[in-house]
Amino acid sequence: MVLPASINAHTAIQHEIARVAGLRDVHLAMEWFRSHEPELRDSQLEVAAIPAPPFGEGPRAEWLRLRFHELELEQVQVDAVGNVLGVRPGSKTEETLVAVTAHLDTVFAAGTPLNVRREGDRLHGAGISDNGAGIVGLLALPSALRSAQIRNCAGLLFIGNVGEEGEGDLRGMRHIFCESPWKDLIGPTVVLDGATTDTVVTQALGSRRFQVTITGPGGHSWSDFGAPNPIVVLSRAIARFSRTQLPAEPKISANVGVISGGTSVNSIPESASMRVDIRSASQDEMERVERALREAVAEAVSEYPKRARNGSSKGISCEIQLIGCRPAAELDPGSRILHVIRAVDAHLGNRARLHRASTDANIPLSLGREAISIGAGGSGGGAHTLQEWYDPAERDLGLKRALLTVLTLAGVEK
Ligand SMILES: [Zn+2]
Repeated sequence: MVLPASINAHTAIQHEIARVAGLRDVHLAMEWFRSHEPELRDSQLEVAAIPAPPFGEGPRAEWLRLRFHELELEQVQVDAVGNVLGVRPGSKTEETLVAVTAHLDTVFAAGTPLNVRREGDRLHGAGISDNGAGIVGLLALPSALRSAQIRNCAGLLFIGNVGEEGEGDLRGMRHIFCESPWKDLIGPTVVLDGATTDTVVTQALGSRRFQVTITGPGGHSWSDFGAPNPIVVLSRAIARFSRTQLPAEPKISANVGVISGGTSVNSIPESASMRVDIRSASQDEMERVERALREAVAEAVSEYPKRARNGSSKGISCEIQLIGCRPAAELDPGSRILHVIRAVDAHLGNRARLHRASTDANIPLSLGREAISIGAGGSGGGAHTLQEWYDPAERDLGLKRALLTVLTLAGVEK
């Protein structure tokens, strides 16, 4: 009987995972996670207590750089945008590297009391799980590999990256995959983000964000009456835009999140602005809704004559500025990395569903590269709030899952 190629490939990967997991050294590495949980917990409390607001990841990056040195990773460096990199060389130098990444930044502004602490078995504090858990995973893997003296075939590139959250706009990963000297040396990428073991992010939720600003001559509400009013123009643009058809499948969302403008009740405003967020896993849909936004604004503006009725030569003008752009993309269902994580989950008896989210994997996925984002084990809640918590129970399952995935992708010497 001839089996379809994908079934053959899947069976071969299952056998390879069973072989890798059965190696004595790999077994030792997997044991390491459980026996070193107290140290992992201490590292998590230590790193989460270092503030890492958007565009302020420097002190945390320096902490990670020192840890990478202690772990004897090679080529340890902080790159031009602040990412921290370190390499565990492989025995086969001709193979592309397997990248393992975790974002360093948090959503919390500088000066926010992070209040990181331990209460019983749980850890608490802003950023303790997102991405304290991921950063601990990023350290636990090379620690266990070193302790068990495992010889990986392809080299492993560990990256603590900047700029995952909010206005960071994935700038750390964008730099790695678009500009840095590493960009062509990386094969598959495994992103460690937050806690849990129950999902595999394979669909990159994209977003495009805009600041729309309408300006006019402004004036006195009585004596300049008749001058065009930017708040009214903006309101008409919003009304038009809100009638845009948004299908349920592929899902797309559009949100006017902030509006501002005007100075006083008896002044015709000189400007009015809004911030708009468009999200989807479909790049085509996002582009269609962006066109609808631009048309709605242009039509609202065109309803006003270039020359105002009160004789002012200054009419209405508008500016649409792109303030955020995360590309949408999807992992090829036939990709090796997806076969590997599915087979690892089967091997470990772990149930996980495929998931769509905006993560650091958006960048490699949008470039047609193989990437997934997974949690680093344990459980957590209250992400992006001051009430965030993390429970390390069964963290080792998440770390074993990451280790087996990375080792199967890289290959292991017997
Ligand atoms: Zn995160």
